[in-house]
Amino acid sequence: MIALKNLTEEELKQFMKTIDEPAYRGSQIYSWIYKGAKSFDDMKNIPKTLKEKLEKVSYIGNLKLELKLESKIDNSKKYLFELNDGNIIETVMMEYEDRITVCISNQVGCRMGCKFCASTLDGLIRNLEPWEIIDQILKVQEDTKKRVSNLVLMGSGEPLDNFENTKKFLKLVNDKNGLNIGYRHITLSTCGIVPKMKELADIKIPINLALSLHSPYDDKRVEIMPVAKAYKIKDILDACRYYIKSTNRRVTIEYSLIKGVNDSEKEAKELIKLLKGMLCHVNLIPVNNVEERDFKRPDKSHIYKFKEILEKNNIPTTVRNSMGSDIGGACGQLRRKHKNSEVE
Ligand code: SF4
Repeated sequence: MIALKNLTEEELKQFMKTIDEPAYRGSQIYSWIYKGAKSFDDMKNIPKTLKEKLEKVSYIGNLKLELKLESKIDNSKKYLFELNDGNIIETVMMEYEDRITVCISNQVGCRMGCKFCASTLDGLIRNLEPWEIIDQILKVQEDTKKRVSNLVLMGSGEPLDNFENTKKFLKLVNDKNGLNIGYRHITLSTCGIVPKMKELADIKIPINLALSLHSPYDDKRVEIMPVAKAYKIKDILDACRYYIKSTNRRVTIEYSLIKGVNDSEKEAKELIKLLKGMLCHVNLIPVNNVEERDFKRPDKSHIYKFKEILEKNNIPTTVRNSMGSDIGGACGQLRRKHKNSEVE
């Protein structure tokens, strides 16, 4: 069975030919999919005979809404969606004055093992297919009745560990007859898979790249992110420079601040040395407490001291506001609680 939401318009036209239908039917179906059709019955100008044929060989691909939580302190919403195999993923919608950003998942769980992240506590269950990534956006639009303008691939999973499906997703989401979200409005976050960062640079899709760095020292980084055993900071930053050169885009360096672990002045100064001359900005992310790990958020004054040191050395720095802290804001927290039946 083919998931039609995995296909580009051109692929859908080709698919029609394989089932002895005219190619233009592919464009009609594609258009219905992005108008939100959930079943073939919703597709008004498609003949009954074709609908019956499609039922036998394909399905559209729909996530089932399992739970929605709305923050009382900001405009964020958190969704849990059930996949066809019963797995659960989470998606976050953040509404700002001028845009709606959706943080999407691209794997069920994650195998990267970052110590501050709840998504990885049970390892990787499986990769998401392109339709399972794209439908998170369609379902948020359907729920909010608003157009999603910006995307961050920062939910559960490492996008470059699901590279083929991520590439296909990027192609689909940018299509002008589909969701039409501009590449410059999309940010992909990676923990630093060097060969894939270079491949991404080579396909020259001008999306924003964000690197989870979290420490300027290789040995300390390994303690926070086990994937650091495979790739040295120097090589990762070289890959960032390569990305900047290929795409002309500024890279975001994400730095989770963990009390007593990576928040000292010495670390700030080392970071300055590493990033000198690079077209980047630093995003400081005070960690949310993950119950299963012993990481704490630094005091506010300490966070702003760290920021000041970087800025005095001409490194543009922001502190990320954690949205939805009352609804399991940190990546993977809500899904995990739901799995453990703490959320009804
Ligand atoms: S932070 Fe990202 S890469 Fe690291 S474990 Fe969590 S989901 Fe995976």
